[in-house]
Amino acid sequence: MTKPVIFCVDDDPEVLGAIERDLRQRYGSDYRILKARSGREALEAVRQLKQRGAPIALFLVDERMPEMTGTELLRQVLKLYPDSRRVLLTAYSDTQAAISGINDVGLDYYLLKPWSPPGERLYPVLDDLLSDWTAHVRLPYDGIRLAGARSSPRSYALKDFLSSNQIPYQWIDVDQDPSTRELIRSFGDSNRLPVVLFPDGSHLAAPTNRELAEKIGMQTRGRLPFYDLAIVGGGPAGLAAALYGASEGLRTVLVEQNAPGGQAGTSSLIENYLGFPAGVSGSDLARRAATQARRFGAELLAQEVVGLRREDPYRILRLADGSELSCYAVVLTTGVSWRTLEVPGIEPLLGIGVYYGAAMTEAATYRGQDVCVVGAGNSAGQGALFFSRFARNVTLLVRAESLGKSMSQYLIDRIAATPNIEVLTRVEVAAVKGDGRLEKVVIRDAGSGAERELDRAAMFIFIGARPRTEMVSGLLELDERGFVLTGPDLPRTDRRPRAWTLDRDPFLFETSVPGIFAAGDVRAGSSKRVAAAVGEGSGSVGMVHSYLETV
Ligand SMILES: Cc1cc2nc3c(=O)[nH]c(=O)nc-3n(C[C@H](O)[C@H](O)[C@H](O)COP(=O)(O)OP(=O)(O)OC[C@H]3O[C@@H](n4cnc5c(N)ncnc54)[C@H](O)[C@@H]3O)c2cc1C
Repeated sequence: MTKPVIFCVDDDPEVLGAIERDLRQRYGSDYRILKARSGREALEAVRQLKQRGAPIALFLVDERMPEMTGTELLRQVLKLYPDSRRVLLTAYSDTQAAISGINDVGLDYYLLKPWSPPGERLYPVLDDLLSDWTAHVRLPYDGIRLAGARSSPRSYALKDFLSSNQIPYQWIDVDQDPSTRELIRSFGDSNRLPVVLFPDGSHLAAPTNRELAEKIGMQTRGRLPFYDLAIVGGGPAGLAAALYGASEGLRTVLVEQNAPGGQAGTSSLIENYLGFPAGVSGSDLARRAATQARRFGAELLAQEVVGLRREDPYRILRLADGSELSCYAVVLTTGVSWRTLEVPGIEPLLGIGVYYGAAMTEAATYRGQDVCVVGAGNSAGQGALFFSRFARNVTLLVRAESLGKSMSQYLIDRIAATPNIEVLTRVEVAAVKGDGRLEKVVIRDAGSGAERELDRAAMFIFIGARPRTEMVSGLLELDERGFVLTGPDLPRTDRRPRAWTLDRDPFLFETSVPGIFAAGDVRAGSSKRVAAAVGEGSGSVGMVHSYLETV
């Protein structure tokens, strides 16, 4: 924690020097003593301190200053630091100003000049005010702060980005914290929430994930001019490919748009992954895997890949910032994203009550409230169990007649044994309602078609999976659902525009473009499990080696 500040202001340099000396002598070891020679200079410095999240314990301000009186200055700083103690330095003739200051700006004390000897006339007063301040004020967090509105989807997205990347931050709801809103207003950025405030005093208004990644020192650019292997997507398959590629001597780069871990990273507890008898949280597994891949020399870039093209013998990735990465071979591990739920009312509530996936950052927000989970797969089951630890009641909304078809038995048993989870089968979501937050979920009975409304504060959706292949749809042969065809599944006939045409057989996991491989959930016919994705990702590296021998 940084030391709290005592801020003194006086336009007379001699007096200012004397105050500073006396303050330093007594309080220098526990407080930072800062000074300014005018109200304007002081205000500027105070704004910067607020921006850095530095606490100010006390203002000691001269009343008679040319541009701005002490009372006026205190009125201004009060908006940014409402809890600081405020002392006015006055001459005998200013007592009236001081008295009105008591009412106007909640003055804690007025000190008559001169204050010597300080041991009798200054320190006892300040000791008392400072101990009072210390007792009542919680020292602010001095790391990254994210200030936004709860009702803003972009705030949720940035919270998710920071926490998925395991970067500690403090969330400030500006609707609950007028002093931070005042600070943001002073940047002229009040319409551009959320704002990320950094400990060095700088800020970013409504940044993209990449802008934020760059600012916090995540790697966004490749260090090498050329790679043997580039991997698109940092889920379990991509991380495994990066780890095996780098450990086997390939110059390897992995590009991930959100956070290492992919879908698995959002799982509260993975219980069926080999070697973890008590289960492992997705974030823990992701952190370990990313560390391991980096240790072997793989570069992990925080960027989105927006294009992939072939310039034989090279494969080129285009990144969201316009830069490119060149390599010999690519492993595509972009996985799947949630199928969207198309019902009336949903769009404006995304990120403010309606979430795709586990949204673990939001769990505490819904503590003690009623929420629902939509879906019947293992991920929905895990989600229901996870939220049951925070919410008052969790309703699992299932379209099928039972959970048996799609959910593992161990999860069905756990759900049955959890008293605050209710399972409603043969129902579908018909609409959602709410103004600035989710209020009601309208469900429809699959048999009778009858609709009814449930009061729910949040809805977490875990339905189906859509392959993330938009970027390569014109380049690679896909199946009818958009998953990437590989190896023996590739069509051989010349009549298909993207058929396999080389004389040699495609390698296992190789797509219709030689040298581009696909592994994990994005691959047609894959098992949609963590262990399978890890197996395919690591297995693809053997095929890359075989391919490199042909280049
Ligand atoms: C909540 C939940 C719980 C689960 N629990 C289990 C479980 O207990 N056991 C189990 O075996 N399986 C579980 N699964 C399934 C398992 O997580 C997946 O099968 C596995 O994560 C697939 O790995 P993947 O690497 O193929 O793809 P993903 O995990 O989907 O990763 C793909 C990655 O690619 C990135 N990406 C996509 N496009 C781009 C682009 N253009 N540029 C850069 N990056 C991009 C994405 O951001 C993502 O990080 C669960 C899934 C979920 C959602």
